[in-house]
Amino acid sequence: MDNSSKGMRWLNQFKNKLLAKKVDFYQEEIQNKNLHSFVSFTIVGTFISFSILVIGLLLSKISKFNSQFLGIFCFFICLHLFAKFGLHRFVKYITPIYYATLTPLMAMGILMGTYLDTGVQSVTIMVFICILPLFVLDKPWRIILYITCVATIYIICCYDAKEYEIFLMDLIDLFIFYCFALGVNFFILCERIDSVENHVKFKNKAEIDFMTGIYNREAGLLKIKQLMYKRVMGAFIIVDIDNFKEINDNYGHMYGDAVIKGVSQVIKKAFQEEDIVLRMGGDEFVIYSVDLVDKAACEKNLEHLLNCLNFAKIGKTKGVPVSISVGCSINDKEQIDFNRLYRDSDKSLYEAKKKGKGCFVISA
Ligand code: GH3
Ligand code: MG
Repeated sequence: MDNSSKGMRWLNQFKNKLLAKKVDFYQEEIQNKNLHSFVSFTIVGTFISFSILVIGLLLSKISKFNSQFLGIFCFFICLHLFAKFGLHRFVKYITPIYYATLTPLMAMGILMGTYLDTGVQSVTIMVFICILPLFVLDKPWRIILYITCVATIYIICCYDAKEYEIFLMDLIDLFIFYCFALGVNFFILCERIDSVENHVKFKNKAEIDFMTGIYNREAGLLKIKQLMYKRVMGAFIIVDIDNFKEINDNYGHMYGDAVIKGVSQVIKKAFQEEDIVLRMGGDEFVIYSVDLVDKAACEKNLEHLLNCLNFAKIGKTKGVPVSISVGCSINDKEQIDFNRLYRDSDKSLYEAKKKGKGCFVISA
């Protein structure tokens, strides 16, 4: 590979890291990370501003009060109360909230470094632009833009407020801190975004049934319980393959595995994306079909499922007829117990088997 194509590849990688389109893809995880780091941010902020206040008081022998850091301390206390008691309602907007929270702090840093103290060089804002954005998990280009805007506003205010010589020294300091802030924020963000991606991939692997690619028992049932906890109503459906032992005995376990995979794909296709489909184990599957609470609509869906299976090619290579029995119970009440719903579906499945298999029963 020649140097120019190496350079192009490096440039492309850099562009991809800067734009970090995968941040949109893993939005939910990123919001959760930001939610947690927001709480830590308020604790760290409260602790540091309180320490500076106390040290300031001790150094000046309890005579002089650092009112700016008192303001910052009160700001962090309010933020912490908000993070603890109100923020969970705005999780979707956590990233803009984060930027909105950093902005008054940056403004305070700019004021402290310019109009409030015109005679000396400023340190606070330099530290702020390096440290504060590190708490936010977002696309690197947005953080870089944010740091650049703050640095630009600072330098304009500095030019306006300070003597030319102090301004020049501040300009050099700012340039050094700005480069440092960009580098540190960029590399740490890339690392954190990659670790979110790995975490999601690992979590998905742990949630998926290895053979069929649908949810495994633990993850799927947990998701159904979570939906029920949020009062999302729907139909709880249990599917069991008929006479599966015979398929295993007559055609071998490998063939049985292929039948399980085929049936799982038919079930997945017959339901919607938001429905939870899981393999309970063996030849048994569970579906929680979201908002399917009307009995007539439920009957239509289950007929559709049986038709899909009839038209599918599962077992056809060896001329094995594959049929399923289905038990269903509808969760249309506000307070329904998961165990009861499961028991009712299981009873319906038993009835379907007793009726001669290859059919469905919906519990009354
Ligand atoms: P019924 O119509 O009453 O459901 O009868 P059945 O023969 O299907 O009985 P059952 O559902 O109890 O049988 C499940 C069988 O599935 C038992 C077990 O040997 C087999 N099995 C469980 N896990 C696997 C697997 O991962 N692969 C294969 N090939 N077979 C499995
Ligand atoms: Mg079976």
